[in-house]
Amino acid sequence: MQKVPDVFDIAIVGGGAGGVLVALHALRRASRAVDIALVEPMGELGEGAAYSAKTPEYLLNVPVAKMSAFARLPNDFLDYQQARHLSRFVAAEWAWRFVPRHEYAEYLRLRLRQAQENSMARLHVIRDLAVAMTDTADGGIGLRLERGRVMTARSMALCIGNLQKPLPVEPDPDMAERCIDAWNYAKVDSIPHDARVIIVGSGLSMADTLLALHAQGHDAAIDVVSRHALLPLPHAQDQAPADFDTDELMRLDLRGRMRRLRELAALAQAQGRSWQSVMERIRPLGQELWCSMSSQDQRRFLRHVRRYWDVHRHRIDPALEASIRAMLDSGQVRLHRAGMRAATVDGTQLRVEVSAGDGCRRTLWVDNIVNATGVELGAHAMKHALLRHCLQNGYARPGPHGLGIHTMPDGSLVAADGNVRNHCRVLGSLRIGDLWESLAIPELRAQAEQIARDLLEKSR
Ligand SMILES: Cc1cc2nc3c(=O)[nH]c(=O)nc-3n(C[C@H](O)[C@H](O)[C@H](O)COP(=O)(O)OP(=O)(O)OC[C@H]3O[C@@H](n4cnc5c(N)ncnc54)[C@H](O)[C@@H]3O)c2cc1C
Repeated sequence: MQKVPDVFDIAIVGGGAGGVLVALHALRRASRAVDIALVEPMGELGEGAAYSAKTPEYLLNVPVAKMSAFARLPNDFLDYQQARHLSRFVAAEWAWRFVPRHEYAEYLRLRLRQAQENSMARLHVIRDLAVAMTDTADGGIGLRLERGRVMTARSMALCIGNLQKPLPVEPDPDMAERCIDAWNYAKVDSIPHDARVIIVGSGLSMADTLLALHAQGHDAAIDVVSRHALLPLPHAQDQAPADFDTDELMRLDLRGRMRRLRELAALAQAQGRSWQSVMERIRPLGQELWCSMSSQDQRRFLRHVRRYWDVHRHRIDPALEASIRAMLDSGQVRLHRAGMRAATVDGTQLRVEVSAGDGCRRTLWVDNIVNATGVELGAHAMKHALLRHCLQNGYARPGPHGLGIHTMPDGSLVAADGNVRNHCRVLGSLRIGDLWESLAIPELRAQAEQIARDLLEKSR
């Protein structure tokens, strides 16, 4: 058996899609024998919050053509699908399909194994949770793991990903079993078909839960409550981007950009194209659009535009959107524009109080509450031991507007005193305050490639 050293060249904290992408790129690029540790306590590698769903009704919300692990091999996930489903494969058709999410984690693990077999570097997977970090005397990083082990590395990639927001009201401890996180797919799948369910949140996780319940033949009523009641919108059948000059958008302030985007969407529709084609055109510019806004406009965006932006930007398979509409039309699913105010146990049921914007209160009796409120973005609200430790000990500080943590354009962590810790790199949703667009695979693979290249360089 290979001995696992406590001293590594590179430590990757988090083995979801982001951490696996960093490991994959580092293994492929390494030109000598470096030791890479990948620390992950849960499930199988590559799964994380998004791809741990095991059943086929949980689909990717991005088509196959856009999910390659490698920017320079854009068809790699398509090639993987081809190898997997050879007998019924027509590449042009599959490119725009939405395949089950677990297939994406399987793809990442296969590519990781292949990279390991051909690499000069060694990957050590450590099944534990990093809870604290320190600086070492030689300029490296020390990590304390939950089970007591201490490891050191010359550099670190922080890939801890998505943390779920809590319910707007904390459930009583005696209700805990019946309050289910939408990302706890096995628990969602165990909801009885005749249970009355309330889903809090109306975004992509709500869509996942509805479709999972539907696939299991759920026949009781489902209430969806959300303060804005905006439902996920569908991708267009025609995925090609509209053609317009994006430079003019960059010159405008937020109000001007929104006005122009609405005009462009109307124009596209008048020409027989979809409004989605306009979003496709600006999709690769998400970070540039955010970074070129004044801080004041960023705040306005967060307060007034973000919810509308999110539903137009993060879309779902049109077939799934049609299923959700059908569930609403049948009356089985009721959408309430309201906030959750209180939840208590009442006999055998849960009594949930919701109130609409006009102050009108309503009581719903249910068997289960599903938390589909989405990703927690506020640095101080994140319940995460390592992150809290970093913030409390000055290794990190919150990002702009308190979102995520502050990083440089190359992902280097910025300490509380403003010092740049360029041997600590951050990937993914923690960079949202600096980049806004830092959640999906196209951004993660680019960040992973850069982090892998830079950290290998540092290990020389
Ligand atoms: C439900 C859902 C569906 C999505 N669908 C898509 C999609 O179809 N296409 C797309 O492009 N994007 C999608 N996304 C966006 C998604 O954020 C990324 O694609 C990607 O999964 C993020 O990976 P990550 O590794 O950054 O985070 P995560 O997937 O959250 O993984 C983080 C990992 O870090 C581990 N970890 C956390 N803290 C520690 C610690 N202290 N020590 C050790 N390990 C730790 C966790 O256990 C976890 O495994 C989806 C997101 C969600 C939430």
